[in-house]
Amino acid sequence: MKICENCGNVINKPFCIGCLEREIEFWLSKERPEVISEIRRLLISMVDFNRKGSKCIVCNKRINVCNNCYLEKIYEILKEKDVDLADEFKFLFLDLESKDVIQKI
Ligand SMILES: [Zn+2]
Ligand SMILES: [Zn+2]
Repeated sequence: MKICENCGNVINKPFCIGCLEREIEFWLSKERPEVISEIRRLLISMVDFNRKGSKCIVCNKRINVCNNCYLEKIYEILKEKDVDLADEFKFLFLDLESKDVIQKI
């Protein structure tokens, strides 16, 4: 069982936040491309691929931070810039997370 180094919750996604970032980047490239550099910086500040942890099924790097921690920080960044954009982000990425959680229960 892997634990998120940021929030202490169990990581229940088999892919890392780096792979998640590419999805978000793709979405932002159409909506607000100027925000992309900021979420990249956030990724670098949160991730430490040298630590132990299970491997991402997509890129084979180690996972040490859960997707939710990363998504919530991005949501805060977007909310400061554009509330409508933040809401759309929440609908596309964060609500998806909670749906997954509900399915597991
Ligand atoms: Zn976390
Ligand atoms: Zn990955």
